[in-house]
Amino acid sequence: MSFPATLLSGLASLIAPERCPACRAYTLADEQRPPASAREALAAQLCAPCQERLDWLEVACRACALPRGPGLSESRRCSSCRSQSLGRVRTTTALYRYRGPGRHVLRRLKYEGHDPLGRALGRALGERLRRWRGELLSEELVICPVPLHAWRRLGRGYNQAELIAAGVAEALERPLVCLLRRRRATRALYGVRRHHRDQVLSGAFRALPAAAGARVLLVDDIRTSGATLRAAGRALHEAGARRIDAAVVAC
Ligand SMILES: [Zn+2]
Ligand SMILES: [Zn+2]
Repeated sequence: MSFPATLLSGLASLIAPERCPACRAYTLADEQRPPASAREALAAQLCAPCQERLDWLEVACRACALPRGPGLSESRRCSSCRSQSLGRVRTTTALYRYRGPGRHVLRRLKYEGHDPLGRALGRALGERLRRWRGELLSEELVICPVPLHAWRRLGRGYNQAELIAAGVAEALERPLVCLLRRRRATRALYGVRRHHRDQVLSGAFRALPAAAGARVLLVDDIRTSGATLRAAGRALHEAGARRIDAAVVAC
């Protein structure tokens, strides 16, 4: 059975060749060796130069997911996190830095809603969580995407955080549960000073009663100042969630 399938996919790639989601260069599908991990499967979608330039996070602060400051360890936060309030989100895990090809990949997902790309990102993130945050993976854990406002969701037709969360849920074999609603559409945070972002997002989320007692893994595409995750975490905490952690593709 595998021969006709290979032949078909070979034909399909001749008719509509694969393109790198970061730079749109045509890529050659490597059918020789199946990817050994979700991270490899994700990287294989990119062209060779973009793979090379993707800035994977290898050591990072548990709280903010950034690789900053000396003395980072499993129990220590970075110097910046030790001095600021992190709200209710206990840990944040990310895959790569939001720059270069990694940034282009997320922009494509945001504006084109490429479902297989979202899932591949989510599966690689899930794999990282298994490796780095094994202690979170209890039977009770639920995966919750950061929501868009209903109008924006309707206009776009998808929420990129949901696409990623579906891949995370699949990799961790935990349910995807949308426990949050966005009360109002907030303006884009680009250009808003960091310390004003918490104000802009204050009260932007409402958690459903089902959040009571839940252990929640919040999933979003990007963490910049952390204001969105803090606001979402606060809403979950107010609804009685027991523990809240976060996972983002990039930071
Ligand atoms: Zn590329
Ligand atoms: Zn930190």
